[in-house]
Amino acid sequence: MSEAALNVEIASSWLQGFADRVAEEKDWLTELDAAIGDADHGINMNRGMSAVATELSDRPADLATLFKRTGMKLVSSVGGASGPLYGTFFLRLAAASGDATTLDGPGLATALRAGCDGIKARGKAELGEKTMLDALLPAMDALDEAVASGQSPAEAMKAAAEAARTGREATIPMLATKGRASYLGERSIGHLDPGAASSTLLLETLAAALGSSDGS
Ligand code: ADP
Ligand code: MG
Repeated sequence: MSEAALNVEIASSWLQGFADRVAEEKDWLTELDAAIGDADHGINMNRGMSAVATELSDRPADLATLFKRTGMKLVSSVGGASGPLYGTFFLRLAAASGDATTLDGPGLATALRAGCDGIKARGKAELGEKTMLDALLPAMDALDEAVASGQSPAEAMKAAAEAARTGREATIPMLATKGRASYLGERSIGHLDPGAASSTLLLETLAAALGSSDGS
């Protein structure tokens, strides 16, 4: 499959869509963080993504510039654990995009995987520790599988978002062993992880941006 999946226009509508969803779900994300953290995840993410959104009208020619700008903005404005983690995701996406103006399905899957590997390296977390990686990593596996089986980028990303939702729900019975939630020990069990919730929105909005670009 070599059809273009992502270009600067679609990536911009992804980032705008993510900013919009984070704004809509700000209270929910904060409530999730109130249960096992410090009640700021929605506030943090909304501050960062609204800062990113205000820059979107100035559209660069290539993907790397857009993603680098996004990553740097998130690092400087989100704060908490999630700022550097989401920032790293977008900086790795920028590096993986090289000088491309478009990415095809496999290229997009490779770039997103590089972003998730960046989160893993930065946060030193693995699957099953009740973090955003529990939504992201199963989604990357589903994405690779869907791309390999010849699905369109939009269809493949829909499958990835579905896997992210399943992974997000699977954080409920998990014991947190990384981040602030780990301070709670056993009391972290029984709650959905806020970062798994926001990162599911990240992939859902990418699926939506790709879907509206190919009319599916
Ligand atoms: P803080 O915990 O500093 O208040 P946020 O509330 O914005 O930051 O973000 C919390 C989320 O960050 C958690 O729900 C979790 O998904 C994610 N997180 C925390 N530590 C890590 C880590 N080491 N690796 C991956 N994700 C992490
Ligand atoms: Mg917090």
